[in-house]
Amino acid sequence: MENVKDKVVVITGASSGIGEAIALLAAEAGAKVVLAARRTDKLEQLSSRIESETAQKSLVVKTDVTNRTEVEQLVEKAKQEFDSVDVLVNNAGVMQLSFMKNDKVDEWERMVDVNIKGVLFGIHASLPAMLEQGGGQIINVSSVAGHEVFPSSAVYSATKYAVRALSMGMEKELSKAGVRVTNISPGAVESELTEHITDEDVIAMFKDRDMNKLKAVDIANAVVYAIGQPASVNVNEVVVRPMQS
Ligand code: NDP
Repeated sequence: MENVKDKVVVITGASSGIGEAIALLAAEAGAKVVLAARRTDKLEQLSSRIESETAQKSLVVKTDVTNRTEVEQLVEKAKQEFDSVDVLVNNAGVMQLSFMKNDKVDEWERMVDVNIKGVLFGIHASLPAMLEQGGGQIINVSSVAGHEVFPSSAVYSATKYAVRALSMGMEKELSKAGVRVTNISPGAVESELTEHITDEDVIAMFKDRDMNKLKAVDIANAVVYAIGQPASVNVNEVVVRPMQS
């Protein structure tokens, strides 16, 4: 895709699922991708795959998005390697669904740290560079749970509503400065995301529930579509749900 070629795209949570799929698809479209997460073995494997399948260069940066300094260094290293940061995809996230009565306060705190503070640190680290270079794009991965709240999703939804509120505010503030803002809200996607749920009541609730799920590439398609639009087009909100049979 012409408008994706040679853009520098930084992706948090690139070690699995949706982030990994975004990195691959963006690289296939000619982007220079910067892969960020904590599991560097997975990022190195992805980087090798990108190089062999697309001949694109990529950069691996070990990053915990809850650590402000590490996120600042991520953007700094991307600029050093590729000279600019054109797109930041704030994708890293955790979903530890639980019922409020079960008082999973450590998991509430972790979701706030990764899903909200991690996104804010990404904005803090990349927005000044985008404003200085006269443009860029911030893509925040929220969720259908940022539009609706389900039993056990109260805290996760609170974080994803927060992400969407950030997107909505930024889209209005930054348009005149040339910074595009895209909020992506996936429905259920096959990934590792549900593996971190510890609330036995939630695990039991989902045990026999049969629901169709999207593939990670379905979300990557939406992200690369938003990046690939001409600079005059601001794709602000994309909601992608699986069809149900
Ligand atoms: P995965 O669990 O497969 O991926 C999550 C990614 O986030 C991993 O790469 C993980 O990397 C990274 N991550 C987690 N914590 C941190 C951290 N502290 N610092 C840096 N990276 C971190 O799930 P998905 O691909 O499904 O999720 C991606 C995003 O999509 C999330 O924001 C999620 O909320 C959202 N989403 C997912 C849906 C789904 O059904 N799957 C539906 C709606 C939204 P590592 O562990 O290596 O650090």
